[in-house]
Amino acid sequence: MFPGRFTPNDVDVYTPETEETLMLEILREQLGFTVTKQVATAYPKRLSITRIYWLTKGTAKINLITVKGDNAVVPIFQFHSTLVMNKISCYGMFCAYPELTLNGIALVNTGVKLDTYSKRRTAECIEKYEKRGFTFKDQLGDYRQFHGHRCGENANCQKSVRTLGDGQGLFVPFTAHTEDKEGQTHTTVNTADGTNSVEWSLGGLSCNGEDFMDGVVNSVTIKSESEGEAKAD
Ligand SMILES: [Zn+2]
Repeated sequence: MFPGRFTPNDVDVYTPETEETLMLEILREQLGFTVTKQVATAYPKRLSITRIYWLTKGTAKINLITVKGDNAVVPIFQFHSTLVMNKISCYGMFCAYPELTLNGIALVNTGVKLDTYSKRRTAECIEKYEKRGFTFKDQLGDYRQFHGHRCGENANCQKSVRTLGDGQGLFVPFTAHTEDKEGQTHTTVNTADGTNSVEWSLGGLSCNGEDFMDGVVNSVTIKSESEGEAKAD
């Protein structure tokens, strides 16, 4: 989408901690990667990341990131801005804020920015992308093309509650090719992402600046059909 503006040789792989051992085994034994470093992260409890591994194979580098609980998607919505709220899974590619991202503009995840630990790191990440030509703002209403949007309802607004299955993200499904007993090839296109159970909002002030401290914190919630609701942290 943006040739040269994202670095493709540095892949982050997210896995639930319940699959940590299996993922390490696949990366090391089947794909030939070597673990060069690992840390149990000192991130605040609010973040759901538990451990990071650095793996290399020749010039290829991978970070394996383990996530608390059994849903690896959660940290994406705790990232510094909408620009990086994208993912690739076995189902396809997903961009949570296509209307912003494809236009090279982004909103900062206010809850993350206000967190003492993440403050400097967030500023560094944003500066890196600004140098590559992307624009960042705190509120959707700061962008002229979004003046007059319905605050808290427009899918791009920091006050809006979003879910993976709300149809506002851009989902590019992968196609699966399977062969039947007669040797005929069948093509199926994935229609769902498989993880429609995550709900998030960026948090921050409403675009007219009415509320001050209310709802500033970014939130990500996992909804389980059988067990009701579970908070990511
Ligand atoms: Zn708004």
